[in-house]
Amino acid sequence: MGCLSKPLRQLMSHRFRLRPSFTPIIPKRCIGIPPAFLLDDYTPRYQLLSSVDEAKKRSRAYAHLRECNLCPRLCGVNRYEETGTCLIGAQTVKVNVIAPHRGEEPCIQGFHGSGSVFFSGCNLRCVFCQNHDIAHQRNGFDLTPEELADWFLKLQQVGNCHNINLVTPEHVVPQVALSILTARDMGLKIPIIYNTSSFDSLESLELLDGLVDIYLPDFKVWKNSTSKRLLKADYYTETAMESVKAMHKQVGDLCFTSDGIAKKGVLLRHLVMPGKEDEGREIMRWLAENVSKDLYVHIMEQYHPDAHVGKKKRTTKKTDGEEQAEVRYADINRAIRDEELGSVRDAAVAAGLWRFCEVNEDNSMFHL
Ligand code: SF4
Repeated sequence: MGCLSKPLRQLMSHRFRLRPSFTPIIPKRCIGIPPAFLLDDYTPRYQLLSSVDEAKKRSRAYAHLRECNLCPRLCGVNRYEETGTCLIGAQTVKVNVIAPHRGEEPCIQGFHGSGSVFFSGCNLRCVFCQNHDIAHQRNGFDLTPEELADWFLKLQQVGNCHNINLVTPEHVVPQVALSILTARDMGLKIPIIYNTSSFDSLESLELLDGLVDIYLPDFKVWKNSTSKRLLKADYYTETAMESVKAMHKQVGDLCFTSDGIAKKGVLLRHLVMPGKEDEGREIMRWLAENVSKDLYVHIMEQYHPDAHVGKKKRTTKKTDGEEQAEVRYADINRAIRDEELGSVRDAAVAAGLWRFCEVNEDNSMFHL
């Protein structure tokens, strides 16, 4: 109080107490957001692109489609003439569902839902895929980048969604980039989320730099033998490491406005797999040491057998004289156990991570 002038001291003693100007007035709702991650306001990055950068991005997008190197499959195909592993061409994207979605993290879905676009096709072939009917098959309707931009505007204006959430978009990055640029000219104002398996190429992420506000990478497994067997991909782990580092370099740690809605940064997901908690622990240690101890992490527990897991094998074997049908991927044909989830969580805390997507001890709100 020593530095306050007399009139101000008198005002401070008034029963309504005037706050000194340096004391932030924090509305009740934002209590819980550390000040370093609290934004006063936010303008999406695509709004800040110059017209020169926009023209460069458009021309790079078309170049990628003529010789595709968007993911580590490096098919090198001209997608105007043929398709690669992801099965999707150049002129359109295949979309299965577009709708406000309330199944995401609270800071992403908010009050009105996340404006989600579920793309059909994928550059991975996870044997346990929980969206296998759309990811492993071409299943949906075709949209040009201009038509997709129209849908972004509908999600913003009619759905009142907090963001545009591009789900499994790794194989359609050029079309997505073109649609964001078109939508910005039409009046899009909400943040863009890139919701990815992390099997992205650095060239692809470079094209997205300046267009995406929130990266939502899923870091799936740690061992190459596991990615080969369960994701049907070589080099997944090293690709995910490079991708997550590049994403974090672009947008940093996750930040929110005072209503608790995420606006910018990386939200990293890891789905704990049965019997693979050792890999989850390695991932947490690597993230803390190589990306950021302030990384916002969602350690997910909702694994359930799906797609090829648990399906009957063609052969049977005799056990104790009885003929028994064998199932495929029997080792992951179950839900995870509490101790598996706990061991990944403990490793994350021991490594220095502290920002987790989970409810407070008193169940009153989510950590932000
Ligand atoms: S995005 Fe598709 S075509 Fe391009 S490299 Fe990956 S799998 Fe191949």
